[in-house]
Amino acid sequence: MNDFSQENSQGGVKRISRRDFLKLGAVGAVYLIARPYMRILDGLYQSNSNSDEFEQNIGEAVGFIKNNYSVDIFTGMPNVSGFFNLISGIKGTDLSRFELSRGLGLVMEEIVKYPPRYFTDNGVHNIRFLNNVKVRGIDYYGGFGANQGTLGIAYSAANNEADREYERDVFHHELYHGTDWHDGLYLFDDNRWRDLHNCGCRPYWERGGRDSLEGAEPPQSSPNWFLDPYGQTEAPEDRAVFASHVMIPRLHRNLLTLINTSSNQTTRNILQRKYDAIKKDFAKWSGGKMNDQYWKDLVDDRVSWGYFGNT
Ligand SMILES: [Zn+2]
Repeated sequence: MNDFSQENSQGGVKRISRRDFLKLGAVGAVYLIARPYMRILDGLYQSNSNSDEFEQNIGEAVGFIKNNYSVDIFTGMPNVSGFFNLISGIKGTDLSRFELSRGLGLVMEEIVKYPPRYFTDNGVHNIRFLNNVKVRGIDYYGGFGANQGTLGIAYSAANNEADREYERDVFHHELYHGTDWHDGLYLFDDNRWRDLHNCGCRPYWERGGRDSLEGAEPPQSSPNWFLDPYGQTEAPEDRAVFASHVMIPRLHRNLLTLINTSSNQTTRNILQRKYDAIKKDFAKWSGGKMNDQYWKDLVDDRVSWGYFGNT
């Protein structure tokens, strides 16, 4: 669930452990929004980080997200004495103002792909950035669970500058976990996803395998119906990996290509069933707004601010 990712010695990424269960709390600020979406976004990326305008941009971005999606933004450790470290062993620091502007920019770009009520309807109320994250003393990147209503992003300046798609992936992956959890399916939907394989086999590592195998490497190779070897660890992770792939147009297009062109019919069939299952989840959680037309538009890069009728 928590999906902190650790860069291993090969430069790859592994994610661990549901055990790092978080309970977060703090109080956010609400700002008045003076400017439209694109001007706030441009300001986050372009203005001088020492300027008053820069502070205003950050405030307006936080306000935009709060006012339109009812989501509060936090940075750094929550002000809950002892609990955070005690439960999870997670430690992190605040983002600098510059880093926060980059993180907020990414959230501004990705959150607009969801209908405004999506977050409140699905129990995700906060986004928390942590920097320099360590779990039990080891460096971690990626995200952490949304099962307490908080979508956590372990910020990496290097990732944010070099590979923004990775952090986009984290955002959608963790949000999927949060909605999955809120819907009561996170712990109880394994059979449906096992059955999608229709292979008479056990497609995943054991549930909890990731926790019990903490420190072990994920499989280095996996069947093509896993979009990422990490998805093979257990059904909830497979779902979250698929979710982030369909929410990012480039990855979504790649998935469609794979479904349509794989030489292996079994692979095509399993991918198609998982694809349909994920779209069904999003349709349910969005009250039908993320429908076939929505996916067509997303694949064509036509889903951005205003898509759901906001101005
Ligand atoms: Zn995950």
